[in-house]
Amino acid sequence: MKQTLSSEGSGVEARPAGPSVALQFGGKRVACPICGETDFAARKVMLNTRKLTFFNLDFLNKTATIYRCLRCSHLLWFED
Ligand SMILES: [Zn+2]
Repeated sequence: MKQTLSSEGSGVEARPAGPSVALQFGGKRVACPICGETDFAARKVMLNTRKLTFFNLDFLNKTATIYRCLRCSHLLWFED
């Protein structure tokens, strides 16, 4: 079954399911585009830029959530 990312719906949400999370987007469960795995490990990261840090505007830096496929380690990035 082919699944594609969609920009509609309520956005990206991660549901805890033991040690892994299921990536849901617009109400649909998202599978890894490489291997089809549906379990991911998620974590939040800062998207720091040197220019903003130089001007002491780190608060403008955005965060992103990275979902790492538990089978093939492919990374899916979502800006928050
Ligand atoms: Zn994968």
